[in-house]
Amino acid sequence: MKHMDNTQLWQSVLAQVQFSVSRANFATWFRSTKIVSKENGEVLVAVPNSFSKEWLGNKYQSLILKILRSSDDNVRLVNFVVDAQGAIPQVTVEVPQAQEAVEPQLQFKEFKVDQQTNLNPNYTFDNFVVGSFNELAHAAAWAVSEKPGETYNPLFIYGGVGLGKTHLLQATGNRIRSLFPKKKITYTTAERFISKIVEAIRNQQIEKLKKDSVEIDVLIIDDVQFFSGKEKTQEEFFHIYNGLYQNQKQIILSSDRPPNAIPATAERLRSRFEGGMLADIGTPDVETRIAILQAKCEANAFVLNNDILEYMASNIQNNIRELEGALNRLIMYQKINQKIPDVATVKKLLKNLVISPKKATNYKKIINAVSLFYDPKQEEILLPTRRKEIVKPRQIAMYLLREELKESYPSIGRRFKGKDHTTAMYAYDKVSRQVEEDNDIFNEINLIKQRLYSEI
Ligand code: ADP
Ligand code: MG
Repeated sequence: MKHMDNTQLWQSVLAQVQFSVSRANFATWFRSTKIVSKENGEVLVAVPNSFSKEWLGNKYQSLILKILRSSDDNVRLVNFVVDAQGAIPQVTVEVPQAQEAVEPQLQFKEFKVDQQTNLNPNYTFDNFVVGSFNELAHAAAWAVSEKPGETYNPLFIYGGVGLGKTHLLQATGNRIRSLFPKKKITYTTAERFISKIVEAIRNQQIEKLKKDSVEIDVLIIDDVQFFSGKEKTQEEFFHIYNGLYQNQKQIILSSDRPPNAIPATAERLRSRFEGGMLADIGTPDVETRIAILQAKCEANAFVLNNDILEYMASNIQNNIRELEGALNRLIMYQKINQKIPDVATVKKLLKNLVISPKKATNYKKIINAVSLFYDPKQEEILLPTRRKEIVKPRQIAMYLLREELKESYPSIGRRFKGKDHTTAMYAYDKVSRQVEEDNDIFNEINLIKQRLYSEI
């Protein structure tokens, strides 16, 4: 093999990369990159910032490695390093022995949904901030975790979006799990539960499902408002519910509204929902919002001064998820720029969020960012093709329109030719589930979101 120096080697890699990625992606991610060293089969590629490093590591590492190896078969590893600081490389991939898929080992936020319970261990009472807005719900949940099945049954928690229902339900499940390791706990969303019932009916497995569910000691169902209008599943659920209830099994439910406000719900089911403890979660006041931000900063080893905390807490009022979103933006800024933003920068970074959360990003940016990540031509995402490589990005685009812009399902459907609200709902549910269960998807969406919010 002819000898090439590092510059020539990289030139030839880039020339080949160009064939595999879109022009936009190439310009965005491969500009300002170079090989800084090649020793013992390890190629170190310098990139302009930690954001590029993550992106290249996550998405292009195996491609780059493959191309490098086609020019120089001594190469066994590719690492990326941020040029400015000469930081220690963190993203590393070994050449697999056989033809196995290459697994990039990203140092991303680690989370694992427990396979048996479906609980995410990151939701705990420890990291749940209590204020007057949620103290009743908190106290009730805590009491239930001490004596599942014996205090309040069911426990029904309701409140608006992003205010901590899921967190509290899961924290309760996690605590029960640690106090009573033998108890069989199941966390599920109503939507998932409904599809399980529907599937069981279809496969004539419903009796088995009912029989199996008797084994459950603690049943946690999130967002039960989605049972609304599902007559047949309500009926089956009612039987499962009774079976558990009569055996003093704990049932914990959440909803975005109180039972009497959930439309199209059988009266007998509604009265079951109301039969135990009803606890609402309101909205936190400004002091509590500051406390929540402080707790989140601490958890992320991130420091913000009081002016910034106060600015955020007094301007972002809707819910806790938005507060977290704002904080994440600042954390991202710090990651990319290697410095903590000052007040003026914070104002700029959060401007859109503060004025109107809808303006923070928009439809165009989302379609752009998704196509940039997955490469298909933008128009293709919007067209009714069923090609697999288009279906996934399209579903993710739909998910982001819902998640980031709170667009209604019908309006999301209308944006895509030949699609309607059911496609949008299906896409949203599917991707939401994947985000919880699949680390790759979680990382990909995170990177797309970083992209959405990193440019101000
Ligand atoms: P909901 O299910 O009510 O829509 P979530 O439980 O998903 O809301 O909460 C939204 C986000 O806010 C989550 O990341 C959650 O961890 C966080 N959060 C909610 N309430 C609290 C709280 N009291 N303390 C700390 N974090 C909270
Ligand atoms: Mg929730």
